Amino acid sequence: MEIKRNILLNPGPATTTDTVKLAQAAPDICPREKEFAALMAGLRRDLVDVVHGDPEDHTAVLFCGSGTLCMDVCLNSLLPEGKQALIVRNGAYSARAVEICRAYRLPHVDLDLPYDRPADLDAVEAALKANPDIALVYTTHNETGTGVLNPIRELGELAHRYGAIFVADTTSTYAMRPIHMADDNLDFCMASAQKGLMAMTGLSFVIGRRALIEASRDYPRRSYYCNLWRQYDCFERTGEMEFTPPVQTTYAAVQAMKEYWAEGEQAKWARHTQVMEAIHQGLEDLGFQELIRREHQAGLVAAVRVPDDPNWSFEAIHDYCYQRGFTIYPGKVGSAGTFRLCALGAINAEDIHAFFTVFRQALDACGVAVPVRCKP
Ligand SMILES: *Cc1c(COP(=O)(O)O)cnc(C)c1O
Repeated sequence: MEIKRNILLNPGPATTTDTVKLAQAAPDICPREKEFAALMAGLRRDLVDVVHGDPEDHTAVLFCGSGTLCMDVCLNSLLPEGKQALIVRNGAYSARAVEICRAYRLPHVDLDLPYDRPADLDAVEAALKANPDIALVYTTHNETGTGVLNPIRELGELAHRYGAIFVADTTSTYAMRPIHMADDNLDFCMASAQKGLMAMTGLSFVIGRRALIEASRDYPRRSYYCNLWRQYDCFERTGEMEFTPPVQTTYAAVQAMKEYWAEGEQAKWARHTQVMEAIHQGLEDLGFQELIRREHQAGLVAAVRVPDDPNWSFEAIHDYCYQRGFTIYPGKVGSAGTFRLCALGAINAEDIHAFFTVFRQALDACGVAVPVRCKP
């Protein structure tokens, strides 16, 4: 079977291999069969292994839904009664975490920090000092809207020093940038299958400490469907999700995991890095400027300033590239005019070179002057 290969430069879902796509075409199965439970059990172990978890202390809990579901689950399930969450907010995804806290009326400190740089540790420590009832510190590892990398190891150390658990949204780093549960001081991290794992949408997972999940059993049950302990407990007792899992997506994730181990943690990160280097170079050659200083970037997302040119139209450029198999993505930063190019997925530096040939043609077709001039 021939499947057209599209190069997705959006921040997930990512370009997948044909073998992952085709893994979904499996015989029909009732997901309550032991065979399917065994498949999920293996996947859960692998998900812990990817972040070098200890199989005794750590577990992976699968959910049917997109990545935001895991943010929701961690925030609504892991906060004891009468305690506060500290949301380290320096981008669109941690702003979403604040919205989740509001939706559940969770007591929280919304620590509003500049979006164009990593979270300031002194500010986080001051918030922890001023609010001794903080039981959970939450950050986004790679703020996907800007590509800013937050210092999870140091933030986790701070959280623990002040007696709080540490939750990091690693949705846009997991299975790309190497992560180590213990060394990075992580109690919980999360992702969805369609990003770093290069599998399909609809399967997401929280990875974290069993003891803390077990301790959360008696915390307020704020959601019926999205409760961490409840889903964990069901997996531990029966090997199954409480409700229907995304069956075909799970087959794809199992195949993607095989391909992850075959490529290897370091080689995969090196490939994403080469893709990102090719993106930086291509942008620079055309005169584009990036929003975030290179040393603050997680190495997976470039937020690019739009040119100061009357002929620039993101939509027209997007459509030109899209028709030729390349997808670029709008920005997500308040008022700053940006677009994004991301290094996720089963792509390599040659794909980026091919993209820039098309992108250059798109600029010419729209009459955008090259090298582009950027707004100061
Ligand atoms: C993609 C992403 C999510 C999840 O977004 P969904 O649209 O729900 O899949 C959460 N956090 C970060 C940092 C992300 O990049």
